[in-house]
Amino acid sequence: MRGANSYLGSIGTTIFTVMSALATEHRAVNLGQGFPDTEGPRDVVQAAADALLDGRNQYPPMPGVPELRQAVAAANKRFYGLDIDWAAQVTVTSGATEAITACLMAVLDPGDEVVLIEPLYDTYVPVVRMLGAIPRIVRLSPPHWDLPREHLAGAFGPKTKAILFNSPMNPCGKVFSAEELGFIASLVERHDSYAICDEVYEHLTFDGARHIPLMTLPGMGERTMRIGSAGKTFSLTGWKVGYITASAALTPLVQKAHQNLTFTTPPNLQRAVAVGLAKDDAYFASLSGSLQARRDQLAEGLASVGLTVLPTRGTYFITTDFAPLGYNGDDVSFCRHITEKAGVTAIPVSAFYDEPGAPDHYARFAFCKKPEVLEEAIGRLRGHFGG
Ligand code: PMP
Ligand code: GLN
Repeated sequence: MRGANSYLGSIGTTIFTVMSALATEHRAVNLGQGFPDTEGPRDVVQAAADALLDGRNQYPPMPGVPELRQAVAAANKRFYGLDIDWAAQVTVTSGATEAITACLMAVLDPGDEVVLIEPLYDTYVPVVRMLGAIPRIVRLSPPHWDLPREHLAGAFGPKTKAILFNSPMNPCGKVFSAEELGFIASLVERHDSYAICDEVYEHLTFDGARHIPLMTLPGMGERTMRIGSAGKTFSLTGWKVGYITASAALTPLVQKAHQNLTFTTPPNLQRAVAVGLAKDDAYFASLSGSLQARRDQLAEGLASVGLTVLPTRGTYFITTDFAPLGYNGDDVSFCRHITEKAGVTAIPVSAFYDEPGAPDHYARFAFCKKPEVLEEAIGRLRGHFGG
């Protein structure tokens, strides 16, 4: 039989699926794959249930239902002061995952280069490659995750069509500063390219850190595609509702990509997410406040076990250095080891690196879990490692 797609044949199953299966097999507390263990807001879930029963279950409009596109535009204004024309600039997708692909499709031709910043989310490189484009990867390294400005500038060149990056950043919890964003904006402008901004953790920031969309910087409105996810904003990761805000010139291309990927997204979920985005400020404050408390709980617990805990200012995740435990093996082996022997699952940080020489003694733990679940995980690790 002739070989099927050679690139897909060469890549493995996503680390999140692999580690969740291992966690189930060993009845481990799963602090690997990032998903909350509580339901999202009751009124949002109720709105989805009601919307299933009111008889509007056929194909919704291809770009998304007007209620949600209007809500996305209103949220852009409310949180960031952006003036967005909902009819011309907003597209609803089946999760941020589809949104990332649709935005890449909207701007790339085969042979174009895309600047990526690692650690990176695991769909970025495969999608860029499957579109026939070339990733140019710039590395951030623990423990400080500083943006290496010279390398970043060097990664841009005459073939650069876009930069795709994530802030707040999974797995390291970095929230890009105004200065860093200004530097990125200057490169985007200088090289006449586009920016695809994966902002799925936009509302999950801590210690007063403020998420700044690149789109709000001067000159960036025409060049930026900004991606959000209801999964993260409403703790409903299984819903897979994402949204893209882009210029009126780029949006038709984004929508043509979307029409050829999924065409639409379930209408009841879209309508419920519109209800969610209209929730009052107290909801958004309590979302990040409650996560911050659980971050602190897990950080303290992991430190008490002997891991070095790196600071995290956003997302669901803490990165730890396990070298102080004296464990003899790399991060993949460590994450397997603690799943099998301690009954706690984490994700090896090297999974977020594409190029050789990735850091190999860091593990990512998710804290978007109930306090008693975090306590159980800490107790298990302490039981295994002492501390
Ligand atoms: N980007 C990043 C950085 C993520 O962590 C996730 C998490 N799943 C996604 C995109 C995908 O979001 P969605 O579930 O909405 O597809
Ligand atoms: N974004 C989630 C994480 O980083 C997982 C998403 C997935 O399982 N594909 O853990």
